[in-house]
Amino acid sequence: MVNVDTPKLLRSLAKLIEKPEIKALQVSLVQTLEQLIEAEAIALFDIRTLKQVESDHAEDFLIRVGVDDTFEDDDAPLILLREEPQFMECYRSERMVVTRREDAPGAPLRFIHPILGMKKVSGFLVIDAAQHIERDQEMAAIFLGFIRNYMLLLNDNQRDHLTGLLNRKSFDDKVMKMILSLSTANKRDADKVCYCLAVLDIDHFKRVNDTYGHLMGDEVLLHFAQCMNQTFRDYDLLFRVGGEEFVVVLRNVDGDRAAAVMERFRRVVETHYFPQVGQITASIGVTFIGPHDLPGLVIDRADQALYYVKQHGRNQVAFYETLVAQGALQQKQVESDVELF
Ligand code: GH3
Ligand code: MG
Ligand code: MG
Repeated sequence: MVNVDTPKLLRSLAKLIEKPEIKALQVSLVQTLEQLIEAEAIALFDIRTLKQVESDHAEDFLIRVGVDDTFEDDDAPLILLREEPQFMECYRSERMVVTRREDAPGAPLRFIHPILGMKKVSGFLVIDAAQHIERDQEMAAIFLGFIRNYMLLLNDNQRDHLTGLLNRKSFDDKVMKMILSLSTANKRDADKVCYCLAVLDIDHFKRVNDTYGHLMGDEVLLHFAQCMNQTFRDYDLLFRVGGEEFVVVLRNVDGDRAAAVMERFRRVVETHYFPQVGQITASIGVTFIGPHDLPGLVIDRADQALYYVKQHGRNQVAFYETLVAQGALQQKQVESDVELF
């Protein structure tokens, strides 16, 4: 272990929780440990579940947490969890696994620490070091335990208690970050990266409450959120922004793909059996997010498309951009005002 005095350790802990944000916390954990322990490399991996859009098949894979504030690179090769025996062992045992990296010069030791999520291992802290210094690994495990509790707390703050989806509070922040990442992406990436936002609103939800009561209404909201979780990918951001209004932000999609995904979700809802209530439907308004956008403007465009659907029979998907191109909707002046400033 690097010689650490108590004030330095306490300063590290204070720095660790400086920014109340999960990504910042992860980055800061790596940086803090780099100063406190003797290691050749320290990395964090998240476990994500990749769902195939056209089937129910789901696959767990690992994604390396970047140490800068950008979004993950979708082009990075997928590391399938089930094909990594040491990670699998750590995942199953929920204990640190020690192995040797034969692929690196000097074959350093690799310590894989589990990061415990709410119910199971949600990621790994990977430390490559020349030798096994017990106090270093102990220190890493203590830091992990500390940030785990803090992360659960942060996660709780960002989520809606009924459905577990991201809440309205985290919406502006996350969408603003996406807009910023679009405006800072270089030309090559800008062609590739594309975000699309959809507002989903349950049709005639008042009737559900009036007929079956508010508690049953809540049950429908819960089922609706489960349909969202089962249909969209882990990459996509799912929010409950109001009573029976939900938002999905799709990443890296073009218009055709976004239309197919949203139409698929519309059908999932339409064919889902909601206990006691039976069938419900949802109307969906969609828009693309641009590099000079603002969260409020994006929502406003998607809302206009949604309103159009509500006026034209409900239970459909409509894109704002298509409606404008068809002359069915007027483009609002506010967008060009934003361009001016
Ligand atoms: P439309 O098809 O036009 O969307 O009709 P709607 O009845 O869904 O209309 P509207 O969006 O105006 O009504 C939403 C209703 O959702 C009003 C409110 O009673 C109900 N609601 C809002 N929040 C909650 C909640 O947390 N739980 C329950 N059970 N109901 C809620
Ligand atoms: Mg509504
Ligand atoms: Mg509604």
